Amino acid sequence: MATLFVTHPDCIAHDPGAGHPESPARLSAVLKALDEPQFRTLIRQEAPLGRKSDAARVHGARFVEAVLASVPQSGRTALDPDTFLSKASGQAALRAIGAITCAVDAVVAGEANNGFCAVRPPGHHAEPDRPMGFCLFNSVAIAARHAQAAHGFGRVAIVDFDVHHGNGTQAVAQDDASLFFASSHQFPLYPGTGASDETGLGNVVNMPLAAGTDGAGFRRAFETRILPALDAFAPELVLVSAGFDAHRADPLAGLELEESDFGWVTSRLLEAAQHHAKGRLVSILEGGYDLKALAGSAAAHVQALMTQD
Ligand SMILES: [Zn+2]
Repeated sequence: MATLFVTHPDCIAHDPGAGHPESPARLSAVLKALDEPQFRTLIRQEAPLGRKSDAARVHGARFVEAVLASVPQSGRTALDPDTFLSKASGQAALRAIGAITCAVDAVVAGEANNGFCAVRPPGHHAEPDRPMGFCLFNSVAIAARHAQAAHGFGRVAIVDFDVHHGNGTQAVAQDDASLFFASSHQFPLYPGTGASDETGLGNVVNMPLAAGTDGAGFRRAFETRILPALDAFAPELVLVSAGFDAHRADPLAGLELEESDFGWVTSRLLEAAQHHAKGRLVSILEGGYDLKALAGSAAAHVQALMTQD
């Protein structure tokens, strides 16, 4: 068994426009990094198209249809000041859902140890009734609902180490004790949520970090707060919103992580998954806007996943 790697060319075709930080080049940089010889044992798979019925578990069928109907035939449509659709965006967003739901299915079936989905657009800012912050559908929350509906899991954890707070994922988890959501993020920063007193039903853990926090501070946040809470929740499946914009080189934020910190946190999350969830862990790409830092950090993340092989 090995690590599953899922992506699709449609996710490169999604184009929010020249100069937008969430660029097609991001995914190309990740794919190039994972083409190196040390990744040859990855199980590579093209993402199927995600089902609208899966997306509807989080967003409702009307919202799903409305977002897909707003995709332009040419040019661009803006859903908010940051979030743009091009002709390929609907297909890309459905591939992102298809990637993570099929990775969950494969890991549950024992066809892979764990999985990483290199897709875009990202998803963790998308709220049940609102696309925002480069995100159309909340792929990781959709995967959690899919895991519950299709595989009967009672407890699914989502851990988000993107530098921005996963407000959309929190909106899904905060009223439902069958989900656990933990986030480390720079605070204050977009989208403005994620204070430490936002705890949901006791199933939400927010770890706001001041600008300038380095890898040691990040690791402390996980060791003292997030990992113990994850352990207490005892998840049957661990999903990861893997954004790499907390890297010190990232232009959109001010944390000071190194590539090795992403490898470290991945290993700790894998340990939790091994302890409680038979190793079942699936991660999905969220942010990361410095191409070199993104590529190196994603490589460190996948390398850590592969150590379970
Ligand atoms: Zn981000």
